[in-house]
Amino acid sequence: MVVCPRCYIQIQTAGDIYRCGECGYTAKTMNSIIIFEPDMAHDNRDYPQDGLHSLYKIENSHFWFLNRKEYIADLFDRYISKNNKIIEVGAGTGNVSNMLRSRGYSIAAGELHIEGLRMARGHGLCELYQFDIFNPPFREHFDTVCAFDVIEHFDNDTGALKKIHGMLKNDGQVIITVPAHRWLWNSEDVLARHKRRYDLKRIRSIFTASGFEIIETRHFFTFIIPLLFIRRFINRDMVEDRQHEIKINPVINGILYYITKLEFFLTRRLKPRLGGSISVVAMKVKS
Ligand SMILES: [Zn+2]
Repeated sequence: MVVCPRCYIQIQTAGDIYRCGECGYTAKTMNSIIIFEPDMAHDNRDYPQDGLHSLYKIENSHFWFLNRKEYIADLFDRYISKNNKIIEVGAGTGNVSNMLRSRGYSIAAGELHIEGLRMARGHGLCELYQFDIFNPPFREHFDTVCAFDVIEHFDNDTGALKKIHGMLKNDGQVIITVPAHRWLWNSEDVLARHKRRYDLKRIRSIFTASGFEIIETRHFFTFIIPLLFIRRFINRDMVEDRQHEIKINPVINGILYYITKLEFFLTRRLKPRLGGSISVVAMKVKS
């Protein structure tokens, strides 16, 4: 159900109208984007908004984003039914949601930054919600919630998972990805305003603490680990004098894309112990 983000009672919706009969709260609508928290729409608390523009430019060419999309597509094919009602939270520019939509999934995009949702609309996504993950206007509403490289931005990652838990129907699934290994912490993490990188032990414990049963945890981006490790030392002094731009040599980009594609093929039935990222598939235990 959709709930009022102020008094938490159920809201009856009519088309694009989201109005609380109890307290009078009304969500704003802007070209099919439903805006629940207009005061936070340009909030830069946990994510640099200029990052979205930079992201938009490179998401369809940078190997890391392309490979991650393929990895996510595979996770969805293995675990998520196409009949599910799905939302991606922290959807950024909607690039991943759009890929899933094109594969036949019914997916809504949720994001705090309106700018990101505008880009998502440009991709062709039509169910767009601007809201704060820590005060979501949905309760037991979705079969699947996904968040790709999102919770590492929050001081209270367990709190965010608990909110996701509340948005899910019983037995609903959550799929997330996060950056892995504290020893890979580098200037990119600082620029992206990450609060941490994860190990399996921590990720399992915060999911369990948030009311989930873990179905699968897995490392990926394993073959590029040496590169990620070296990057720590190369980029160490760059944080101060670099704007949020992600650049990569096109030849190296192509090589890394195929190296990672090979990794996904070779490790399909394995569980690598290392990797630049971790994916988690978990199920909501009855609330
Ligand atoms: Zn209300």
